[in-house]
Amino acid sequence: MNILLTGGAGYIGSHTAVVLVQAGHKIVIYDNFCNSSKPTIDNLESVVKQKVSVVEGDIRNTSLLAQTLKQFSIDAVIHFAGLKAVGESVQEPLNYYENNVQGTLSLLRAMNELCVKNIVFSSSATVYGDPQYLPIDEAHPLAPTNPYGRTKLHIEQILEDQTKADIDFKVVNLRYFNPVGAHASGLLGENPKGTPNNLTPFIARVASGDLQELNIFGNDYPTEDGTGVRDYIHVEDLADGHVAALNFLSHTVGFETFNLGTGNGCSVLQMIVAYKKASGKKIPYRIVSKRPGDIASCYAAPTKANQILKWKAGRTLQEMCESSWAFQQYLKNSHPVSANTQ
Ligand code: NAD
Ligand code: UDP
Repeated sequence: MNILLTGGAGYIGSHTAVVLVQAGHKIVIYDNFCNSSKPTIDNLESVVKQKVSVVEGDIRNTSLLAQTLKQFSIDAVIHFAGLKAVGESVQEPLNYYENNVQGTLSLLRAMNELCVKNIVFSSSATVYGDPQYLPIDEAHPLAPTNPYGRTKLHIEQILEDQTKADIDFKVVNLRYFNPVGAHASGLLGENPKGTPNNLTPFIARVASGDLQELNIFGNDYPTEDGTGVRDYIHVEDLADGHVAALNFLSHTVGFETFNLGTGNGCSVLQMIVAYKKASGKKIPYRIVSKRPGDIASCYAAPTKANQILKWKAGRTLQEMCESSWAFQQYLKNSHPVSANTQ
């Protein structure tokens, strides 16, 4: 298939690009590089050992999208492009609605114009909000607690409405839990600009000595060791989930949602132990007050994806930490300019 990856230069998109090329698909990356950079494309090409088609553009540019869909005879779209920082979305909600929701409407307009009827959407476990029960299955009530999560829910609803308006339009809606880790090559991974908000990129920088210590946000949650519990999933497993989703799209109708997670909860302290083992480095930390809006535990019931997509996250927590550490080493050793901007 010819597949357009909006946001394909980003963390999850670049890993998915690898497995799609390896599965024999032709891919086109469409990205405005607002949260990624060109060296990622060079590294991706090194990993897949071939040139990859890239269009630099914004998803809000409907005519450029339509032109791209036409030029590359696109059969399906995987829609990764979006802004994803929860805190920033609280500060700048309009940017989030404009980029994520308006951007998706623009994409759907272009797809409609070119009769492209297949889309896989990058949603998030954030749409569930505070868990009412665990593990979280797809039937769990949807009540996101921040603008970022609400953009994801609005997009899900728009996509579902479109499947009702057009019986040929098909959507696989993937709700990711907490993607971590990096590609086995050590060339692709997550490298947020500035101080990381998320746990594992922060730990990676503490282990490498770039940051002094980790602040653990609270140790009196009702969890085994008092620290927050999440469902961390290896980004390569997540990437495999997209190949499974595309296979499913070819013999389905309408709108279908799947949780992509491992089903296992891991606490902050457990993550520190695993990362320490993977890196051989000390991870100094101190306990600070809870982060506003944080929840105690969140982990998936991935049964539906296991059974229907025939997909399962198999990589271990140790593999997540080892691959993250290998990528961190790559960043340290690579040219400082690309290390800072990638
Ligand atoms: P990322 O920031 O690394 O990648 C997103 C990519 O989209 C970037 O390359 C960015 O430049 C591009 N982009 C953003 N706005 C754009 C626009 N208007 N036009 C064109 N390109 C644009 O993020 P990621 O971690 O790879 O996440 C991919 C998707 O998965 C996002 O939609 C995110 O909300 C979702 N998601 C991520 C996580 C996570 O923890 N990483 C969890 C759940 C869901
Ligand atoms: N966390 C932490 N210190 C940090 C970043 C995160 O203690 O610097 C904790 C956070 O409170 C949560 C877990 O690590 O319990 C995962 O946080 P992350 O932001 O990575 O994911 P999210 O909370 O969005 O699921």
